[in-house]
Amino acid sequence: MTTSDLVRRGERSAALREQALRRTPGGVHSNVRLNGPQVFIERAKGAWLYDVDGRDYVDHLLGQGPNFLGHAPGDILAAVERACRDGMIYGGQHPLEVAAADAVCDALGWAERIRFGVTGTEQVQAAMRLARAATGRPKIIRFEGHYHGWLDNILIAPGERGWGPATAGQTPAHLADVIVLPWNDADAVRRTMAERGSEIAGIITEAMMINTGSILPRPGFLETLRELCTAHGAVLIFDEVISGFRIALGGAAERFGVTPDLATYGKAMAGGWPVAALAGRADLMDRFGTGEVNHSGTFNSSTMAMAATLATVTRLRERPPYEQISGYGDALREHLVALAAKHGVPLRVQGLPMAFHVSFGTDDAPGGDVADHRGLSRLDLARYERFAAHLVDHGVWVAGRGIWYVSAAHGDAELAATVERLDRAFATWV
Ligand code: PLP
Repeated sequence: MTTSDLVRRGERSAALREQALRRTPGGVHSNVRLNGPQVFIERAKGAWLYDVDGRDYVDHLLGQGPNFLGHAPGDILAAVERACRDGMIYGGQHPLEVAAADAVCDALGWAERIRFGVTGTEQVQAAMRLARAATGRPKIIRFEGHYHGWLDNILIAPGERGWGPATAGQTPAHLADVIVLPWNDADAVRRTMAERGSEIAGIITEAMMINTGSILPRPGFLETLRELCTAHGAVLIFDEVISGFRIALGGAAERFGVTPDLATYGKAMAGGWPVAALAGRADLMDRFGTGEVNHSGTFNSSTMAMAATLATVTRLRERPPYEQISGYGDALREHLVALAAKHGVPLRVQGLPMAFHVSFGTDDAPGGDVADHRGLSRLDLARYERFAAHLVDHGVWVAGRGIWYVSAAHGDAELAATVERLDRAFATWV
């Protein structure tokens, strides 16, 4: 069989999928990937993925975000390799974790303390526990359409009777201490805080709703959350697992000028290595230090994780890629819009150049950005999901839910390849 036969048929991926299904439910290890391309990747470098059948893809998913410096960045790999040669996890402390803690807090500017972990999901749990411990109150306000990890006490989905459990096995009782409000609606938060402020431990929000729609906060919205939390003695938590180190070195505080009490980080913080963190005000975080509030984890602050974090944050600080990434993202968005117009496809794009959302409107002139989760009803999300699969077939790796990420490894060659592939994909899209 020739290579081109393999390319056409994706034979090795198909065989691996069959094999995977024998041992692995759905053939994937995260339900987020259930509806993604069932293609097996052999290796990745820079902004490119290479599958087992010899096809290549310009990557605009970046592993759901972490590969902000591109795949397999040499300097981060070298730092990780050096670190693990001397051991991986000690069940004790090591100098790299001191350096990484300083580097992250210095980069953020506002955070006084930090604890490292492995996943964003756990950091959200730690943040909510700390908010409840510090205030002695049970309730957490969270917003429609935001994602804060997959655990029972925070995962929600819209249902016939409002927002509730998102999965079989999760009961309404799991969500008893969560109040769900529409995002970007300052009046809704004001009303709830006025009525129930004495019960509310904290407000958790993606500072920018990147997961669903890449929606910016309305002017004044984050400021209102800040004022209300301060006035009512509640803890303001920014979930920056996606936005951290991506929208600015200092994250949302730098970009939007509003400082939270606690914030979660992950993804872009460590050049692709699995690391997450909770950072925040000393008086809150020090409750971990006294042992009053539990935060634990066998794999927290491994030597590799700390080396990757330190190397990534140092590079982001010394050689900031933000201008380059923004330039690429802006150019790509312009091409997307122009190509869609050329082919008569009603595509819409919103968000920031480093993390923007692409969708179809439900009419030909959707007009204006979507401002919250409810606005998504103006979009034909199912049609876009089919289009994303079509793009993957044409060599552009994107997520079905519409988010496009840009890394420091995207340059002229990647832009040219993406545009050429998009043109062919639009030409064959019906
Ligand atoms: N918070 C946000 C905003 C996220 O986007 C995610 C994951 O996509 C999480 C939390 C959960 O992080 P993890 O998948 O590392 O558990």
